[in-house]
Amino acid sequence: MTEPLLSVRDLKKHYPIRKGVFNRQVGAARAVDGISFDIAPGETLGLVGESGCGKSTAASSVIRLEEPTAGEVVFNGNGREGAARTPDGTHPNDVTRFDDDELKAFRRGAQMIFQDPSSSFDPRMSVGNAVGELLKVHGMSDRHRRRAIVEDLLERVGLSANDFDRYPHEFSGGQKQRIALARALVLNPDLIIADEPVSALDVSIQAEILSLIDDLQEEFGLSLLFISHDMSVIRQICDRVAVMYLGEIVEIGPVEGIFSDPQHPYTEALLSSIPTPDPRASVGGIELKGTVPSPTNPPSGCRFHTRCHKVIQPEGVDVDQDDWRGLLNFRDSVVAGEIDVEQVRENVAAGETAPAESEVRAELRREFDIGETVDDPDLERTLSEAIGLLLQDDDERAGEILSNAITTPCAQTEPARTVHGPDHESACLRHEGRASAEPNPADD
Ligand code: SF4
Repeated sequence: MTEPLLSVRDLKKHYPIRKGVFNRQVGAARAVDGISFDIAPGETLGLVGESGCGKSTAASSVIRLEEPTAGEVVFNGNGREGAARTPDGTHPNDVTRFDDDELKAFRRGAQMIFQDPSSSFDPRMSVGNAVGELLKVHGMSDRHRRRAIVEDLLERVGLSANDFDRYPHEFSGGQKQRIALARALVLNPDLIIADEPVSALDVSIQAEILSLIDDLQEEFGLSLLFISHDMSVIRQICDRVAVMYLGEIVEIGPVEGIFSDPQHPYTEALLSSIPTPDPRASVGGIELKGTVPSPTNPPSGCRFHTRCHKVIQPEGVDVDQDDWRGLLNFRDSVVAGEIDVEQVRENVAAGETAPAESEVRAELRREFDIGETVDDPDLERTLSEAIGLLLQDDDERAGEILSNAITTPCAQTEPARTVHGPDHESACLRHEGRASAEPNPADD
């Protein structure tokens, strides 16, 4: 098997939360919480997820713009190929252990491109000098040689050698991103980490930049870690994709496999949000309802259970799945004290007349997308009783009975990874019973 260019294992980045006079640590925001993936030479891996899922923090931790809290990042570029682990189990190519000299050399081989090209340049420096600066920092003192290399690169990214002496404000957003690409390529890296490189650009320009990245990747034999919140962009540019949710990778696999047969409900929801060019086609968007959790306090079990449209019903319960999601959301809102019954009454009141209790009950069900009757008689009784308690302002008791009656295995058990095909894995309890993912030797 070809040695990966980049091998990330159990990478974590936690930000401490401190409080009080003594600034004691009282918790941590687990922005990246144990992710693992490989990138082969010449391959593009997409890292996709909603904003706040930890993908940009993962990128900064891989390249050590931020110090990882734990884990290993083995980079086999820069002529360090074929190195073996030392007897103590560490790897000589582990970026997280590099000293300053090794880190400087690593940054020659791994470059980053950011979302906003406008903020990436010093407005007082010509773009030629901005691109050539890295050559100078890394020891190329010959000014003429630097200029020749930069002019050649400006042409390769679709600009002109004459642009060398112009200033950033003279370029459009798309052109600035071309200059950022030239700057990333100037040290002839093996790996580029691109963090949302097209999301600040117009759609028409996006396509041009994506196609340029594609061409340059082939021309320079690059590997790419491509971060995006947009599945349609991922489809255009990536070979494989890792889907991230709340600091974890929930599904990883080849782009064709994941787009044609997604296995994780979160991946399904992301895919369903891709707009279709055909206005007659039905929009199959999956709306994720329920609480969006915080990385400072991630949910127990499967982290997606507070929003998952396929969240599992416990043994012996078999109700309409939309009702089930609604019941869980209703339970969580009652427990969190989020339901304002007075407001609901006002919403349904017609003029001065107070609404009938049945109307308030129906409105509450509507708000949580729960049908007129839940198929399971026990659950229906509990729901009805809980709504009655809410209407009598006894939120606490309502929360108690809902919490006792409405439970899901997804909140109790952390899903293991399941193999679905070559190189395709996901972590969802619905696939329990299938072969689990082989343990990764690097995790030992
Ligand atoms: S484990 Fe449960 S909550 Fe998590 S993705 Fe699977 S069905 Fe949804």
